[in-house]
Amino acid sequence: MFSYRHAFHAGNHADVLKHTVLIAALQHLTEKDAALTVLDTHAGAGLYRLDGDYASTSGEAADGIFRLIAPGVGPLVPALQAYVDLVKAFNQGATTRVYPGSPFIIQRLLRSHDKLKLFELHPTDLRALAGNVAQLEAGRQVAVLHEDGFEGIRKFLPPPARRALVLCDPSYEMKSDYGKVLDMAADSLKRFATGTYAVWYPIIPRPEAHDLPRRLKTLATKAGKSWLHATLTVKSSKITENAAGDTKRPGLPASGMFLINPPYTLKAALKDALPQMAELLAQDKHATHTLESGG
Ligand code: SAM
Repeated sequence: MFSYRHAFHAGNHADVLKHTVLIAALQHLTEKDAALTVLDTHAGAGLYRLDGDYASTSGEAADGIFRLIAPGVGPLVPALQAYVDLVKAFNQGATTRVYPGSPFIIQRLLRSHDKLKLFELHPTDLRALAGNVAQLEAGRQVAVLHEDGFEGIRKFLPPPARRALVLCDPSYEMKSDYGKVLDMAADSLKRFATGTYAVWYPIIPRPEAHDLPRRLKTLATKAGKSWLHATLTVKSSKITENAAGDTKRPGLPASGMFLINPPYTLKAALKDALPQMAELLAQDKHATHTLESGG
């Protein structure tokens, strides 16, 4: 069974990037009246306590969301402000104790005729997710599925109103996840060529991670689809050594979002948001960002 639990990482710099992109994409996709189907292939628990045991073990939100809401932080650009506002909407009063995962971020932005399908395999996260979703009283709008998200989305593509966003956010605990992301994107494009596909991935010194955006770009280009690739680096990926010779791994230094058929408004939103993210979330002088698009 998997050992990855998103609660350790909730609200970290990777979540800031992923969820800012997710919100900006959804804001655009919900402008048209026609119903939207959102498929979240790797949902997690849905809601996280930032003052809970898991979160305080690593305190990753301190170098993520908390830096954006710290006193004295200047005006945020619209996409980052929208992200902060949405996180704050889950918290009463001045203290931010609750962090919404992708299922709750998505549901908050949907209209009553839109649909959300959530896939989660880990039994503990599944139980938490099902309990959290039940409290929404969203009825048939939201479905929680104890299925492999890579496979499970097939039956929902194409969606009834032919409008869909797929968020694919695996933990990449197993190397095979990289290949599964590509297979899923290729298969999904065959089933539903006009869907918006958003993939998060870690930027780590591993060949599969390095190859993933390149291979997604090739896939999109060959299919004649537009794409957008955003990355955020907050620190160096170098393993350091102290005087005693002990090595220290840096933790996740960077991550990326790759979208096929991105909303056309997304590039402009991120052009403003990424430099501010890199500035506010920088942990050393290696902090940077990239933004490319094509098709
Ligand atoms: N998307 C969530 C968010 O932004 O709040 C975080 C998801 S977390 C990175 C990945 C989740 O996928 C974990 O909760 C893990 O248990 C679950 N998982 C792993 N493999 C899966 C699979 N094949 N299908 C569905 N869920 C899976």
